[in-house]
Amino acid sequence: EDELVRAVDRVMTHADAVRRLEVRANADTPEDAARARRFGALGVGLCRTEHMFLGERRRLVEDLILAPGGGKERQVALDALEPLQTADFAGIFEAMRGLPVTIRLIDPPLHEFLPDLTDLAVRVAVAGERAGERDRRLLEAVRRLHEQNPMLGLRGVRLGLAIPGLFAMQVRAIAAAARQVEGARAEIMIPLVGAVQELEIVREEAARILAEAGVEAAIGTMIEVPRAALTAGQIAGAAEFFSFGTNDLTQMTWGFSRDDVESAFFGRYLDLGVFGVSPFESIDRDGVGRLMRIAAEEGRRARPGLKLGICGEHGGDPDSVHFCHEIGLDYVSCSPFRVPVARLEAGRAALARPGSDSR
Ligand code: PEP
Ligand code: MG
Repeated sequence: EDELVRAVDRVMTHADAVRRLEVRANADTPEDAARARRFGALGVGLCRTEHMFLGERRRLVEDLILAPGGGKERQVALDALEPLQTADFAGIFEAMRGLPVTIRLIDPPLHEFLPDLTDLAVRVAVAGERAGERDRRLLEAVRRLHEQNPMLGLRGVRLGLAIPGLFAMQVRAIAAAARQVEGARAEIMIPLVGAVQELEIVREEAARILAEAGVEAAIGTMIEVPRAALTAGQIAGAAEFFSFGTNDLTQMTWGFSRDDVESAFFGRYLDLGVFGVSPFESIDRDGVGRLMRIAAEEGRRARPGLKLGICGEHGGDPDSVHFCHEIGLDYVSCSPFRVPVARLEAGRAALARPGSDSR
């Protein structure tokens, strides 16, 4: 058995020596980050921050939506969230000391955070005259924010712009945590950008906050809306790195709901054999892949040296890792358990195509 372990080690060492793609992991907690490191990840390519607003903090989120345009509640809620977020980020920086950690500003599909409209409506109706003032206002707010297609609605940068102070609170917390933890290497990522104008507003504010705190951190964006891929040349003007969010990019390119891929329809549709493997599993080179190629080329033309990565589920899929190598990405980021496979495939891709697309 020892021999087997040594053989695997030799293969991994060889793969690491030849691969050109860096392998990072998607991790949202210090535990996940530590696990990723044990599996050989050289950084966190995606730290999602949505889950940090659940549980006991849900009430603070409610306060935010009760006063989306301003007001005392909003500021009180943001002030309460900031030290909690600072601790969240410090924990991850500690686990990854010396390695880059890309923190993505909050990207919640709103329906997962708001109280359920029906539940709330029933509660208020049953209570009648005795319904609390807060519940009434909450019901009003939830009705106002209700969306038919939340995944195509008020998410990511759109939410950040709609609730002033929210992204700024997160950036202040990232800066504070980076100052606390020796060896922290923060990167800030803006989700669901479709137009450079959105990115510019957020970027300017974030850069100001970082400068005031005396913290250096790259600011980049996800490329996950087809329009972002098609206008990558403009977007690169405001981004130090791109990370392809192929989960959303696949959903929006194909028009297949990513939340319904387990559904009877999608499964049966795949079984019809109209196309081969699910595009959610492996990058579809002709469609999603072509958008990625366009974005990589135009982004690098506009900003030579632009750093390119991927953090959708495809980042740990062997065939997709080969594609990422071919189009000249700098890194793939995948779930911690898929890190060894990604390292291996990145090595194999480099051996198969030593001189892939230029950088
Ligand atoms: C993506 O869309 O590929 C992505 C990584 O972001 P999320 O899955 O959180 O939407
Ligand atoms: Mg996404």
